[in-house]
Amino acid sequence: MKNENLQISIAHLYPKLLNLYGDAGNIITLKKRCEWRGIQVEFKEINIGDEVSGFDLYFIGGGQDKQQEEVAAELYKNKEKLTQERDKNSVFLGICGGYQLFGHYYQPHNKEKLMGISLLDAYTVAGKKRFIGNVTVKTNFLPVETLVGFENHSGLTYLQGETVPLGEIITGNGNNGVDKFEGARYRNVFGTYLHGSLLPKNPHFADYLIGLALEKRYGEKIELSPLDDKFEILTHNSLIGKSY
Ligand code: GLN
Repeated sequence: MKNENLQISIAHLYPKLLNLYGDAGNIITLKKRCEWRGIQVEFKEINIGDEVSGFDLYFIGGGQDKQQEEVAAELYKNKEKLTQERDKNSVFLGICGGYQLFGHYYQPHNKEKLMGISLLDAYTVAGKKRFIGNVTVKTNFLPVETLVGFENHSGLTYLQGETVPLGEIITGNGNNGVDKFEGARYRNVFGTYLHGSLLPKNPHFADYLIGLALEKRYGEKIELSPLDDKFEILTHNSLIGKSY
């Protein structure tokens, strides 16, 4: 199917509250990589009280514990709808604080546990130290095996059941600094600690997510027309293995 006749719907969940360290750059990347191919993008910012279903791809960024509290309450109200969306193979990408809320719960320091929406079989507890710095991950499902980004979190995330990591840590701490894994995936739900923002520096992952969202919408694998990614790849390669 020619890219020019395609459409994709993208929802940005609670950007007024969870949008730390340039996470909105992920939305810009997804929109531009579709538009450059002639794929029509129907985009909506979802704020507190808005309807949250019927999209091909959902994105949520990171934030401090305080903003997470407000979003957690709102997400939890929509847990059933978003679970149905997951089970229809909609694509989800959650970064850091948003990632934590895709799990069962996030237990901050000396505060009430924040209930997550269990899209991922994972849970997070606040750790004693903050993990800050560049991260390189080795994946086994992307055409370019590395993912690069920047982490800044105290949360320690543990995966269970059929939820698998995005990959192994080459540099940095990742999910919890112990098991040497970073991120999570279950069906088309992806979570990661990689800010940066993530997708401009990892165009292969952006295209992978766009491809999954189109497959969910049209019921078949669709080949994306190639883009000239020389600058994105130069940037990506310059960060591999960097820890500062
Ligand atoms: N408040 C969470 C933590 O510190 C998430 C932080 C973030 O989104 N960068 O782990």
